[in-house]
Amino acid sequence: MTATTRTLESDIAIPDDVKENVFITSVNGIYNWARSNSMWPMVFGLACCAIEMICTASSRYDLARFGMEVFRATPRQSDLMIVSGTVTKKMVPTIVRLYNQMPEPRYVLSMGACANGGGPFKEGYAVVDGIDKFLPVDVYVPGCPPTPQALIFGLMTLQEKIRAQSITSVPWYQKDGELTGIVPIPVLGPDLVDLRQVDVIKDEANKTKLVTTEA
Ligand code: SF4
Repeated sequence: MTATTRTLESDIAIPDDVKENVFITSVNGIYNWARSNSMWPMVFGLACCAIEMICTASSRYDLARFGMEVFRATPRQSDLMIVSGTVTKKMVPTIVRLYNQMPEPRYVLSMGACANGGGPFKEGYAVVDGIDKFLPVDVYVPGCPPTPQALIFGLMTLQEKIRAQSITSVPWYQKDGELTGIVPIPVLGPDLVDLRQVDVIKDEANKTKLVTTEA
């Protein structure tokens, strides 16, 4: 053991994650440690859950501890979209457009029952039953609304996920990955029937009617 190593071990308390970066030497480790501790969420709220998100950024909960206090007012400078609130069908194209304007690597956290699955408005004609039908969600935070503590737990979970990723296999760097392609646009109306399929449904119903009559 060299003198330098002895000095480091005896005099300085090095946090475990930093120790890993310094001594285990992986580009992934350094890269992931840096970006997971400096995420920039977008200023973006849809309904009541957004109030809890705003509280989380305030001094009582202090997102600066996680390097996330810099909420950006433009998607071009953000790498985290927190979908906080009820997602209406009218808003979906705008949300997807904002997501597409974010630079990679980018992450999505779905906050609250509405964003996760429609929440109390699930069967409403104007609300989608989960933003994950349109965007790749990384972390879901349950609750109506989730508390700031719950959101912080979700953000820490996202940090853990980022730290386990590899530069070479992270999905956003795969040009032909499953995430590329056309973004579906929801149609207004109850989700029980897809109105775009009305003609097909009508044909199928007529076929059944025919068989019943013949019998
Ligand atoms: S989950 Fe509850 S608190 Fe959050 S937006 Fe929906 S209704 Fe509001």
